[in-house]
Amino acid sequence: MKSVRLLPGKERSLLRRHPWVFAGSVARGKADAGETVRVESHEGRFLAWGAYSAASSIRVRAWSFDEAERIDTAFFERRLARAIGLRSRLPIQSSGVRLVHGEADGLPGLVVDRYGDLLCAQFLSAGAERWKSILADQLLAATGLSRLYERSDTSARLLEDLPAQSGWLRGQGQVDGDSDSDCGGDGDTTTQISEHGWLLTLDVAQGHKTGFYLDQRDNRAAFSRWLKHLGAQSVLNCYSYTGGFTVAALAAGVAEVVSVDSSAPALQRVASHVALNGFEASRNTCMDADVNATLRQYLQSGRRFDAIVLDPPKFAPTAAHAERAARAYKDINRLALMLLSPGGLLFTFSCSGGISADLFHKIVAGAGIDAGVNAAIVQRLEGACDHPTTLEFPEGEYLKGLALLKLG
Ligand code: SAH
Repeated sequence: MKSVRLLPGKERSLLRRHPWVFAGSVARGKADAGETVRVESHEGRFLAWGAYSAASSIRVRAWSFDEAERIDTAFFERRLARAIGLRSRLPIQSSGVRLVHGEADGLPGLVVDRYGDLLCAQFLSAGAERWKSILADQLLAATGLSRLYERSDTSARLLEDLPAQSGWLRGQGQVDGDSDSDCGGDGDTTTQISEHGWLLTLDVAQGHKTGFYLDQRDNRAAFSRWLKHLGAQSVLNCYSYTGGFTVAALAAGVAEVVSVDSSAPALQRVASHVALNGFEASRNTCMDADVNATLRQYLQSGRRFDAIVLDPPKFAPTAAHAERAARAYKDINRLALMLLSPGGLLFTFSCSGGISADLFHKIVAGAGIDAGVNAAIVQRLEGACDHPTTLEFPEGEYLKGLALLKLG
């Protein structure tokens, strides 16, 4: 077993069971990509077993802090069983569930989403890549499913010097004869889930991430409840993607939704979701446009909305991008606060790891001042419970949001 020895004093975060070792903390020791290494303090004390990553600035990701534990197939079987077992204890009202959420499930670099009878996984680190084939078999065994699609085509792989890879890892994905289902293109990669009783389709091959934003599940339900309670009639769903919040709004009885996104395929799916859930097409308008420009146009034209969702893409992947991102967040929030009807509801989010909940609060507060709008925080929002954050790894917390009510 190869070992990686840390510089003096650099053992502290591992002793607190934080799973990352940065390159700058390493005194010596090398291994192959993804190989298991023993991480030890400068004095030679055992700290963790981890996966070595030669290319990444996160040089080792810890698998285990228990010296007696062996990192073998049984180890991964146990970790997967723990992750999947946790989900069975969570109150999830959907057939779309995140089964494995990387570091938070003790499996750094592995993300697995279950959509009905289809699994979609991302192998984002050298360690996860090295164990891929074993993990794939174990995932099928643990779930009793037969189809696993791989979406390891994110920029995170580049940092690990791993090529982008996507395609069927297990199972071929049967093409069923159901021609009137919403299957575009590669039909066998399309599937349907039921979230809070709403039917939503997705394509694991073409969609964003693994096909769908499961992390917003609870926030979509909360939004629907708020709209119903407030009797909201008009909703602007910004960065709608495939319209999860649009369906939530229509289900609440809102008369009119405008869904804005810059992705035409996503908007096609919004329209199909409106029909699939039995809502009249005329209640939703899809706008293939830039959100910022759209907000400005509406403001100029005097149009107002009873509720607005702002769920932009990651403006700040890391803290280094925070300043520029802060300006972008502030701008859209300022415009949205101005566009709200008096008493209106804003659901505003940031999924940027580089923007803390505290900073996001400050940014939105600044937007309110610039807009000349006073608003009350009526709910704090976060990722769904199948995207857990562990006590030791607060970096895992990426999605944060605020529900605001505009004061008169
Ligand atoms: N709220 C969605 C997820 C949003 S993901 C849900 O619940 O499923 C972010 C979306 O923003 C993506 O669909 C992307 O296509 C879109 N997007 C990114 N930049 C944009 C821009 N400048 N204007 C409009 N849409 C944009």
